[in-house]
Amino acid sequence: MQFHHHGYVSGDPRVQPAAGYGLDRPAELPDEVDVLIVGSGPAGMIAAAQLAQFPGIRTHVVERRAGRLEMGQADGIQARSVETFQAFGFAERITAEAYRITEMAFWKPDPANPANIVRGAVPPDDAHGISEFPHLIVNQARVLDYFAEVAARAPARVTPDYGLEFVGLTVAEPDENTAHPVTVTLRHTTGPQKGASRTVRAGYVIGSDGAHSAVRQAIGRKPVGDRANHAWGVMDVLAVTDFPDVRTKCAIQSHDGGSILLIPREGGYLARWYVDLGEVPPGEGTRIRVTSLDEVIARANRIIHPYTLDVKDVPWHSVYEVGHRVTDGFDDVPDDLTGIRTPRVFLTGDACHTHSAKAGQGMNVSMQDGWNIAWKLAHVLTGRAPESLLATYSAERQVVAQDLIDFDREWSRLMATPPEDLPDPTYLEDFYVKTAEFPCGFMTQYQPSMIVSEPVHQHLATGFPVGKRFKSAPVERVAEGNPAHLGHHARADGRWRVYAFADAAAPGEPSALREWAQWLGTAPDSPLLRHTPAGTDPDSVLDVKVVYQQDHFGVEFPDVPEVFKPRVGPFELVDHEKVYATDPAQDIFELRGIDRGGVVVVVRPDQYVAAVLPLSATDELSAFFAGALLQPDTMPTDTPTITNMPTKENT
Ligand code: FAD
Repeated sequence: MQFHHHGYVSGDPRVQPAAGYGLDRPAELPDEVDVLIVGSGPAGMIAAAQLAQFPGIRTHVVERRAGRLEMGQADGIQARSVETFQAFGFAERITAEAYRITEMAFWKPDPANPANIVRGAVPPDDAHGISEFPHLIVNQARVLDYFAEVAARAPARVTPDYGLEFVGLTVAEPDENTAHPVTVTLRHTTGPQKGASRTVRAGYVIGSDGAHSAVRQAIGRKPVGDRANHAWGVMDVLAVTDFPDVRTKCAIQSHDGGSILLIPREGGYLARWYVDLGEVPPGEGTRIRVTSLDEVIARANRIIHPYTLDVKDVPWHSVYEVGHRVTDGFDDVPDDLTGIRTPRVFLTGDACHTHSAKAGQGMNVSMQDGWNIAWKLAHVLTGRAPESLLATYSAERQVVAQDLIDFDREWSRLMATPPEDLPDPTYLEDFYVKTAEFPCGFMTQYQPSMIVSEPVHQHLATGFPVGKRFKSAPVERVAEGNPAHLGHHARADGRWRVYAFADAAAPGEPSALREWAQWLGTAPDSPLLRHTPAGTDPDSVLDVKVVYQQDHFGVEFPDVPEVFKPRVGPFELVDHEKVYATDPAQDIFELRGIDRGGVVVVVRPDQYVAAVLPLSATDELSAFFAGALLQPDTMPTDTPTITNMPTKENT
């Protein structure tokens, strides 16, 4: 974490100084906002936490509930989400309170006596070392608390406006030429004004209002997919049981009583039991929804026979009924106007995709939706990027949602198939291990676009696939020789990362890296010079780092080119934390297949690899950023002022 560069910070450095809109943020929701987020679930709150880093943007969140979510709903946190939490600064704290999944036990009918269940395979959760981050279980309510804290401590000081329900919206025609073309109708759900309506004009609306999204209906988008739902009796229980794996994640299949997904919960005693209630044909939802808690408990006992479950307390339970559906578009632009009209309304999370809880994806994928649209909106609203960037949201995330539905449908089908009907006895657990990268959240690979280049130089860094998230690796920080994880230095501050992996020459000697650094620091077509607004830190848009092939004893800090040692803040202090060396025991060049002739890797603000280039390809690097970003002197005049571009406050 870096701080003090704007002067001595005596309190908690995680609390950033208020700035811009955050200095006099109105207590009541104003009549005009830049971004209105509808819903304070995981998709909405990550978007709020990201946009709150931009004090020039008036971001507000409206939530129908009267206050914070207290319990229930999703609980599975995949490694990609923990990686995301790290970027938002709370991975360590949430990990400390979470349950950690390291293996999964598969229970099946005993072939000798099918009325009983027996333990089958117990494969490791991440057999291939996909991520250095853990797979966690922690309640959705706590995830929301952490994002709320980040948003409230960020420069724009964003806090949700509870007790306000979205009712409808209209979008002005593009030729009306207003910066706030979305008129939103809201209704108070609580307090003295309960039932009263009001309108708000917004520049953009993010619909994060869950599976029954009213925003989705307002823009005429439709969920497409299964007609039938699948129902689960879900209960968080404190119980006494002789089932031996009650503290291990289990998939339990009985001979004829159905199946259970058992998830131990944080705190050491609580466990969540998902009891399969089967398909719900259209029109029969009411019958399933009235399934009593006693019936769910009785079913659980039948499935785990010969073991028993003596339930002492049930802090939360629900009949969770869901179908596999993807909305026919994730924004309000009709297909035939994509790329022509600017989207003004976006759908995220359950508002645009629903699926079973079996693969534990709901909250996770929703958060990546929210992050994706939030940094893009921040770019457009601060004038860093053209409005055309916004069309990439639907293009990127709709594919991810469809892949998720396809995966979840297959996983659900396999879990519901009696073991004797599967191709071989270990088919289910083999599928689980083989496909682990997907549920861990790392299979997403964005296709070439204005923010993802063609992978023509991929062979130069095979471990950083273009379009996939940047897989961090251990390095040494030169300034003090400390071990570090290269990617962990990147925070959710809306900046792009440019990693220069040096050629083999000694740092003080002539080299391809030195030539590249000279170009980046001085050339008229340097993206660093072109895209950094005057009066902001040199790394306010592009955060440029170098990794040498030598270990930290082999790099003298004075020999490092100036472009990797920018002067920041009002005192123009030198940033010492952008210069890295190779850890000889875990050589990043070996681990990530990086060419020793030197490579540049560009990473988006949401941690996805945007480009892999040789050091010599300065034209291509320049052209890439010219396509993705605007130059400050060409920014539209009606963009919100860029007061206090994000600094390294939270790194
Ligand atoms: P949500 O978390 O649903 O958040 C939407 C928010 O919008 C809510 O806070 C809601 O109050 C608010 N809202 C809705 N309509 C309006 C409106 N008109 N105006 C203002 N605010 C509005 N997933 C699992 O993996 N396992 C589970 O056991 C599980 N159980 C669930 C149980 C329930 C009752 C629900 C609703 C969901 C459950 N899910 C479960 C799904 C999981 O919680 C979601 O996938 C995840 O929360 C999606 O995040 P989201 O932000 O898109 O939507």
